[in-house]
Amino acid sequence: MSDPAAAPAEGASDFIREFVKEDLASGRYASVRTRFPPEPNGWLHIGHTKAFNLSFSVAREFGGSCNLRFDDTNPEKEDQSYVDAIKRDIRWLGYEWGENEFYASDYFEKLYQYAVMLIRKGKAYVDDLSDEQIREYRGTAVPDRNNITMTPPGRDSPWRDRGVEENLDLFARMREGEFPDGSRTLRARIDMAHPNLNMRDPVMYRIKRETHYRVGDAWCIYPMYDFQHPLSDAMEGITHSLCSLEFENHRPLYDWFIRECEAFPSRQIEFARLNITYTVLSKRWLQRLVSEGLVDGWDDPRMPTLSGLRRRGYTPEAVRDFLSRIGLAKTNSMVEIQLLEHCLREDLNKRARRAMAVLKPLRLIIENWPAGTVEQLDAVNNPEDESAGTRRIPFSGELWIERDDFAEVPPPKYFRLFPGNSVRLRYGYIVTCTGFDKDPATGEITAVRCTHDPDTRGGNAPDNRKVKGTIHWVSAAHAVPIEARLFEHLFPNERPMEVPAGVDWVSTVDRGSKQVVGGWGEPCLADAAAGDSFQFERLGYFCLDPDSRPGKPVFNRSVSLRDSWAKIERKQA
Ligand code: ATP
Ligand code: MG
Repeated sequence: MSDPAAAPAEGASDFIREFVKEDLASGRYASVRTRFPPEPNGWLHIGHTKAFNLSFSVAREFGGSCNLRFDDTNPEKEDQSYVDAIKRDIRWLGYEWGENEFYASDYFEKLYQYAVMLIRKGKAYVDDLSDEQIREYRGTAVPDRNNITMTPPGRDSPWRDRGVEENLDLFARMREGEFPDGSRTLRARIDMAHPNLNMRDPVMYRIKRETHYRVGDAWCIYPMYDFQHPLSDAMEGITHSLCSLEFENHRPLYDWFIRECEAFPSRQIEFARLNITYTVLSKRWLQRLVSEGLVDGWDDPRMPTLSGLRRRGYTPEAVRDFLSRIGLAKTNSMVEIQLLEHCLREDLNKRARRAMAVLKPLRLIIENWPAGTVEQLDAVNNPEDESAGTRRIPFSGELWIERDDFAEVPPPKYFRLFPGNSVRLRYGYIVTCTGFDKDPATGEITAVRCTHDPDTRGGNAPDNRKVKGTIHWVSAAHAVPIEARLFEHLFPNERPMEVPAGVDWVSTVDRGSKQVVGGWGEPCLADAAAGDSFQFERLGYFCLDPDSRPGKPVFNRSVSLRDSWAKIERKQA
């Protein structure tokens, strides 16, 4: 496996690396420790790769280490199967964390002790208000007459000034399971008039009788993210806690908990979330697509999950190339999906073997071909990679060609087959169309007829004849039946979340974004293994799907051959 830390742009500097450099130079930290903290409630998507690629590579560049920590303090939707999938996907991209695998659920006892410490300091209290009341007392941001956002002070809970002893007693009894779910919370005692709503006495613990996939029923109170996350970082000695921009407003709280708990001073730094056109990048949104049956699971090749991309035919190298090109930015922005596709094409062009397949078959009969003769034609496996060698392709008197490569009446500038016209059959002979067969009942063309010129083997025209078109084909008697799955973007709109009021974004999924067709492939495709990539000439890059059965390979189209990125780049320049 190539070393991901050696990818080009990772050595380049950016605002995060500058912060890290400064912190080492000033002695704020002696060494670097980062972490990637996924919640095991879904599979990783390409947005996550931006986050963990950054944390792993910053650690590596500065001679530090990166922890993989499962942020598993929210038992409702978490599960071991997600832990396994997340680990598999991080490894696939080329990262290894060795011993540094941690679980926030292992810190439950320590976190409880931190909470007790805050109660003792008068910095936390047990509240009897319901969730709804807490929200109401907290207040909301409202636009004033001049449309400037104001946050009028919230109201104190009547339980805010409970004594330390009473709080300690109630909190212990919350843990013991004396109170029903949702009846009490533990809250930090900060400032109900703080302009940042996150600082208005945030909830630290809630009562929830829910079995946890790792610790079972040991606990009936669970810590909230804002309390648990900074202290988990601190317990692991994380120096730079890199996270996406939606946590910026939580940073004062992150710092508050660390300071009040007198814990290791981890530093949170935010960067822009990755957004890509024509798709959505958040686990809870992807979860909806899965649970509402709009895709065939987390690894549907249309999904932006790593497992979906892998099944689609993406390579780790293509994804890393993409990451190296998008940069880091401090403001949110949208990356064109064409850039991702471009990176895939560049990579597959170098590594994918070429093959021929026909997806909308039409029979081509070579009338002057000697009956029963089969010739073996030589073909280069990959013009970009000599070591891929050559193969022999059987050629005979009956071939499959694409239906679109024949026209009874040719449109302007059509250089493929039509009566009287000649084309080159890739690797083979020049043929001239002599006629076609039509089903009188349906009007459908059932076969095209032609003659071949025996002196043109390999496609050379000895008499310098001009033959403009070259088409692909497979020998009918030798072809293997294949299934091909062709994909469009999952959403028809560039920004799927921007829908008119009253429209549920999920309802805009393009239901025709997956199309399944049957076709024929050249014999070598029968031996392909799951994950193998091919360039089907003139059709695109295809990857063998695990749904394949012996004698019936299934191929996913990874990406077409046409590159629209170059055009976009020109437009942006
Ligand atoms: P959810 O929608 O359930 O919050 P998520 O997609 O945000 O899911 P998390 O498990 O919350 O996933 O994220 C784990 C880490 O990955 C966080 O540190 C988060 O900052 C980062 N992350 C998640 N999505 C993106 C994204 N699109 N771009 C960059 N980083 C991301
Ligand atoms: Mg998130």
